[in-house]
Amino acid sequence: MSVKFAIPFSKTITAGFILFLLIFCIPYICIASSKIKITASFYPLAHFAEQVGGENVIVTNIMPPGSEPHEFEPTPGDLRKIYNSGLFIFNGAGIDPWAERLEADLKKDTVVINIIKLFSSITLSEREKNKHLNDMGNRSFDPHIWLDPLLAVKEVEIIRDALIKVDPGNEKTYRQNSSDYIMSINKLNKKYTAGLKTCRTRDIIVSHGAFGYMSSRYDLQTNSITGLSPEEEPSARKMVELAKLALRKNIKHFFYEQLASPKLAETLAREVSGETLVLDPLGGLTEKDINKGRTYISVMEDNLHNLRTAMDCN
Ligand SMILES: [Zn+2]
Repeated sequence: MSVKFAIPFSKTITAGFILFLLIFCIPYICIASSKIKITASFYPLAHFAEQVGGENVIVTNIMPPGSEPHEFEPTPGDLRKIYNSGLFIFNGAGIDPWAERLEADLKKDTVVINIIKLFSSITLSEREKNKHLNDMGNRSFDPHIWLDPLLAVKEVEIIRDALIKVDPGNEKTYRQNSSDYIMSINKLNKKYTAGLKTCRTRDIIVSHGAFGYMSSRYDLQTNSITGLSPEEEPSARKMVELAKLALRKNIKHFFYEQLASPKLAETLAREVSGETLVLDPLGGLTEKDINKGRTYISVMEDNLHNLRTAMDCN
């Protein structure tokens, strides 16, 4: 008797469980439970984590599309997502100060990667460090490392090693994914080296001081309208100096960013009958960029195209 009942009962249980899965466990959540949850403080870090983690991870970029990292503050909902993730990646050096404030507490349950902290000890030569300290006055470190492709490679390696620590079972996949992606960044670096080799001028005028590492890598003389953050207001004297520099060096193009006001670049362009062009510091993508499928590599290629125009390269 008991056997007769046992079979249909277990069938009922199984059917019930399947029904439960169908109703409550929509594919995203079901799959999500077996994947590593990663949160990142802004776009390049989130993108690099997606490239390395591939199918095994779910990456959340804490900053919504169209926002600028220097000005961002997370909501309580964002903080919940970060605390629920297995790995949190942030840049450090003052660009995402809210993340630095979380670091100590978050570390109790989550693997936390402060990219710059690892970077300063393993990558930048003394010369590079000092140069950027001078560029920035009193600030401790220039945060915009991802704009030099070869430093972006180091970031990818840091993220790969962190992911292997969190999920050692998939080490092989993470090594393969990262080496594939590093290959495309190395290609990008070659395009920059070749594309910026022979140019009429090496002087450029950019909106904010995001391009220090890129300039060191490709030997550019960068003059920025504002400081390390796009929201800083330049003095009238600074604007006059830049206009004079443009006239002296025959600079006709003035770079602005998608996520900050183009007004200052437009003012300078009017002053010397020049024009404006985008040089994207890649702190974030707009909704439009995302819909168009633009990525770190494609935006960097567009940047190269505009640099070649402004520098008159052949
Ligand atoms: Zn910046």
